[in-house]
Amino acid sequence: MVKVTEVADGIYHIEGEAKTPDTRDYMVSYLVRGQRAALIETGPTNHGPLIEDGLRQLKLDLKELAYIIPTHIHIDHGGGAGWWARKLPDVKIVLHPLGVPHMIDPTRLNASTKMAFGDSFEARYGAIQPVPPGQVHTVSDGESLSLGGRDLQVFFTPGHAPHHISLMDSRTKGLFSGEALGIPMEGSEIPFPACAPPAFDMEQYIATAERLRRLGPSVIFYSHDGVGRDVSRLIDLVEFHTRAYGAIIEGAVKGGESPEQMGNRLKDYVFKTTGKITDYSPEMAVSGFALYFKRKAEKK
Ligand SMILES: [Zn+2]
Repeated sequence: MVKVTEVADGIYHIEGEAKTPDTRDYMVSYLVRGQRAALIETGPTNHGPLIEDGLRQLKLDLKELAYIIPTHIHIDHGGGAGWWARKLPDVKIVLHPLGVPHMIDPTRLNASTKMAFGDSFEARYGAIQPVPPGQVHTVSDGESLSLGGRDLQVFFTPGHAPHHISLMDSRTKGLFSGEALGIPMEGSEIPFPACAPPAFDMEQYIATAERLRRLGPSVIFYSHDGVGRDVSRLIDLVEFHTRAYGAIIEGAVKGGESPEQMGNRLKDYVFKTTGKITDYSPEMAVSGFALYFKRKAEKK
């Protein structure tokens, strides 16, 4: 099942659920159309056919697709890039230089995904397939990708992961933030920090949010999920909650608490902040922040 919505001039939000053996997984991609088109975020491999359905609804000739752009190589964003590369031999996969080796040879990426998502991840999402080196477009910070009639400008946005990029559309000043500006909690629209082990870095995350604020975006296109129009307030909120998470986990680490205790603190915080969300899963945030503070302590 896939649902396609035009969210700005020539920008389409593609959302769907993939039926898998043990779960139904949610994914969001964006299609940006100029004379040529770019797909931002592929979702994992098994979402490829679903997105293809969405593109068919838009009557897009797949030959128009010039670029496939994962904001970073985590499976829920770039896992399907190799699938698309194999399907469309002329398409370029746009990657941060630090992401390139892992997409050309995803052996380590598949292994780390197994660690994060469990042994069954290949059955659930499909294995990450390699991108042929000739189809990689390695970007630099500030580079513009022309689609004809509009450009996408690339910004390096570390914090969630060192190889994370965000993109600004020249026509609408819409910003594709990936996970750099948090994840609006479903049903509350309040963005909370997107922290993933092993490389989450709180200081970089906040510095990135400030950099993106200075670009003056008119709208935020989140990868998980939705469209944020009240930009400066949303950036204030994600910075505020990132610092709050940091203070909670730093205190809990010093107090020798278990990951479960830390998770309960974050769940309480999310519930108090939103007034309603009780099913928040804190595991990623706990391990992302705990590793960050551990690295910081080792540096001292
Ligand atoms: Zn991620």
